[in-house]
Amino acid sequence: MSSTEEPTRGADASDSVLAPPTVAANGGGAMVRLEAVRKSFGTNLVLDGVDLSVDRGQVMVVIGPSGSGKSTLLRCVNLLEPIDSGRVFLEGEEITRKGTNVSSIRQRIGIVFQQFNLFPHLKVMDNVTLAARRIRKLPKKDAEARARVLLARVGLEEKANQYPHQLSGGQQQRVAIARALMMEPHVMLFDEVTSALDPELVGEVLLVMRDLARAGMTMLVVTHEMQFAREVGDHLVFMDEGKIVEQGVPTVVLDQPQEERTKRFLRRSLQLADSLDELHIDDQEGGVE
Ligand code: ADP
Ligand code: MG
Repeated sequence: MSSTEEPTRGADASDSVLAPPTVAANGGGAMVRLEAVRKSFGTNLVLDGVDLSVDRGQVMVVIGPSGSGKSTLLRCVNLLEPIDSGRVFLEGEEITRKGTNVSSIRQRIGIVFQQFNLFPHLKVMDNVTLAARRIRKLPKKDAEARARVLLARVGLEEKANQYPHQLSGGQQQRVAIARALMMEPHVMLFDEVTSALDPELVGEVLLVMRDLARAGMTMLVVTHEMQFAREVGDHLVFMDEGKIVEQGVPTVVLDQPQEERTKRFLRRSLQLADSLDELHIDDQEGGVE
């Protein structure tokens, strides 16, 4: 693993993941920490010794080609996948050791996927409150009061009594975010949550995520949205073939990548953007020329 030289940002040099112990000195402490995590599916080595540390209140962005292990990484943090070796810590507690209370750990980790997975037969309000009522045994009245606050926060107060099919994809994804926040997670994981959305709906979801970050939420975000990575990310990790290839301050990694693989990946994403810019969509005809 290599890392780019991070320029010192004020007194913030402690945010280097290479120096997690110093973080405690500023009262933070790592929210999530992975130590030499390895994971294979059969003979396919998917996470090849990943070390990663997300500080409290930090937004960590993970980029990398398809198949590089990004989703598996998030799923291992949330204990949806068992790891083969290494350790995962949540707020200083090792959650990968035997005998941990998986359900109570998962309540501290919110996760949002590309597919929103809302129950189609339940109204927005019931989708948002279901888990809190079932798992946390929150009384209906309290759950609904909290859900209203969260729906307002994602801009969907007036949709509480609608069904998912009556909402746009962007609205459904915002409901999924509100649902995750219901459990009062200490950290939120986002796995390419805008990738399935029509382009015009991406922004509204990114804005909700930005506001969540500004409110101090610790976030681990897998995304292809480089602008989001730049503006909202505190730290960026580039993964390839199960390894962290390069990491650092987002603008530094994106503008001055050091590793050949990072350069190649960024060039390809840029080329795609360029070539798409050359396409013209004729609104009248609805065709692409
Ligand atoms: P990414 O999110 O970066 O696209 P993934 O973590 O989804 O990558 O996948 C990494 C590799 O692990 C891929 O080769 C994928 O086929 C494999 N993989 C992921 N999940 C499973 C699974 N449940 N069973 C077998 N192979 C899997
Ligand atoms: Mg993925």
